[in-house]
Amino acid sequence: MQNRIAVVTGSTSGIGLATVRELAGRGCDVMVNGFGDRAEIDRDCAEIAERTGRRIVYSAADLSRPEEVRAMMADAADRLGPVDILVNNAGVQHVAALDEFPDDKWDLLLAVNLSAAFHAIKAAVPSMRERGWGRIVNTASVLGMVGAPHKPAYVAAKHGIIGLTKSVSIELAPNGITCNAICPGTVLTPIIERQIAQQAQVTGLPEDQVLRAVFLERMPTGRLIAPEEVASAIAFLCSDAAGSITGAALPVDGGYTTH
Ligand code: NAD
Repeated sequence: MQNRIAVVTGSTSGIGLATVRELAGRGCDVMVNGFGDRAEIDRDCAEIAERTGRRIVYSAADLSRPEEVRAMMADAADRLGPVDILVNNAGVQHVAALDEFPDDKWDLLLAVNLSAAFHAIKAAVPSMRERGWGRIVNTASVLGMVGAPHKPAYVAAKHGIIGLTKSVSIELAPNGITCNAICPGTVLTPIIERQIAQQAQVTGLPEDQVLRAVFLERMPTGRLIAPEEVASAIAFLCSDAAGSITGAALPVDGGYTTH
């Protein structure tokens, strides 16, 4: 993967940041994207660049806006060169009973978790096609494979991104471009930390029981997944070794979807 150019969306924390570390460690130059404290983001980028000797640049694009998705992809090509690897990882969650689920949250979750990937793929593909090589990985979820209550928008968007993955993978296979989805179980990152209070509210469980009752219950391994475990699976799907894997939805879920 030496000298490949990668864009990892939603990579200022959690799985995305671990993926940037992994890809840079394997020789990629990477565009980081997402929200957060700017000084902290700059520190993370500088630390990864220093440790790996790779170029790590940052885009603050808000991926709920299609024009910002397109601008980010153009910016990555300008600053780093033609994009070889696209990891559509940005995600947001909202938990509420169906009757109270806000319309604006439905729109936001569909925009960030699903539509942003479509717009980024569309922007990335022409130059991948020209060069006859490309890797696209979309971060779905176990909730792209099975349902869960109180998460209509997230479950719909994550099922949708697996559909997008399958369609795109067939169309782009003759061009040397693969497109796969990764389906994590529960990884303790800010997205889960922010959900604990919402989950307590809709389930009536005390906050200290939510993690076990809602998130760990279905994982036979009985433990949280580390962001690095997901990142190494993503990096594998971005490698030359994974050239015959396309259209797959790979669970990294401690067995969540086996029962
Ligand atoms: P996280 O909260 O650490 O990461 C989410 C990232 O998305 C952050 O960088 C955030 O700034 C970015 N983001 C949010 N809205 C954005 C927007 N409008 N524009 C640009 N960036 C935006 O959480 P995470 O767990 O690392 O999540 C990464 C992905 O993994 C998400 O797609 C999430 O749905 C998925 N996922 C997470 C888990 C889990 O248990 N943590 C499980 C399954 C799937």
